[in-house]
Amino acid sequence: MTPSLDIARAAYRDVPLYTTESIRCDVDLSDNTNLWGAPPAAQEAMRDLANGSFTRYPSAYALGLKDALAEYAGVERSWIVTGCGSDDILASAIRALAEPGETLAFCAPTFAMIPIFAKINGVVPVAVAMTATLDIDPDALIATGARIIYVCSPNNPTGTYASRAALERLIAGAPGLIILDEAYGEFAEDSHFDLTAASDRVLVVRTMSKAFGLAGLRIGYAVGSPSIVAEVEKSRGPYKVSVAAERAALAALAKDRAWVAARVVDARASRDRLAESLRTLGLAPLPSQANFVLVPVPNAAAVAQRMRERGVAVRVFEGLPSVGDALRITAGPASMMERAIHALDEALACE
Ligand SMILES: *Cc1c(COP(=O)(O)O)cnc(C)c1O
Repeated sequence: MTPSLDIARAAYRDVPLYTTESIRCDVDLSDNTNLWGAPPAAQEAMRDLANGSFTRYPSAYALGLKDALAEYAGVERSWIVTGCGSDDILASAIRALAEPGETLAFCAPTFAMIPIFAKINGVVPVAVAMTATLDIDPDALIATGARIIYVCSPNNPTGTYASRAALERLIAGAPGLIILDEAYGEFAEDSHFDLTAASDRVLVVRTMSKAFGLAGLRIGYAVGSPSIVAEVEKSRGPYKVSVAAERAALAALAKDRAWVAARVVDARASRDRLAESLRTLGLAPLPSQANFVLVPVPNAAAVAQRMRERGVAVRVFEGLPSVGDALRITAGPASMMERAIHALDEALACE
């Protein structure tokens, strides 16, 4: 890391840049995107864009996209805020809803960006442990007294799910805002989307980067009571969804829902087969409700390096709380999964 300057904000000094492996791999199973590709109507919208006018700004707050997402989510437009990826919404929500110096609590391990988004907004991240069954621990979260509590379900990187009972207990007892990140909500058996209706302090954050296959276009959204959404929108600022992104998202929401639903079925089946193959190798993958599997593996970094030499990229985690070293593998088409299992089998044989 480059040494930081005295002129930088103190909270920024130990914030790392986000790094991912830049070496390209034949089979990249490292980022949980839709490995079956992008939805067809969205692709067509991108091809037609050459004739479109993008010399002008998009609409300031993406009103057309808000309407389409409101219909998709079954809420009024005033309940929706969009962003440049859901990352943008998470950071904007923290900035809008916590004062500098206040705290944001989460159960670890969870989405690696959360402590960073807290710090860059002057907010102090506080990690608490998950329960023995890798559920969220509502009492420990409430006991922190945090202004914001973040829950990711299905959780990245574990793939595990926050139980309904734990979430309800959390909502009843939490002093401030609850952010429920459902980036992988489409892949889970049930969504907790409806909890926004149960409390005006719940913001459900979703994305078109995972099931919808549009990660490169950066489209995220959140659903919450109009009073929260309005504050997040102020913090987010105008023009965050580009003309291209809005067109693709509108096309996908209008015409590609069946395609997305079919790929979700494919991803779940692939995930379950992947878990089965991992068990055949003598490993114990965590139960997943997402489009990826986390599998504890000793010396995960060395194993992943040997997989990479065999053309397969997976995401490495070292020393995760409650889990230890592990590999996170995205579920995709069968041919990719076969390559991954073969590479992992060979990589483990070198241990
Ligand atoms: C991928 C991911 C996101 C970010 O998605 P973008 O919409 O692409 O910014 C947010 N939360 C979790 C848990 C994720 O895994």
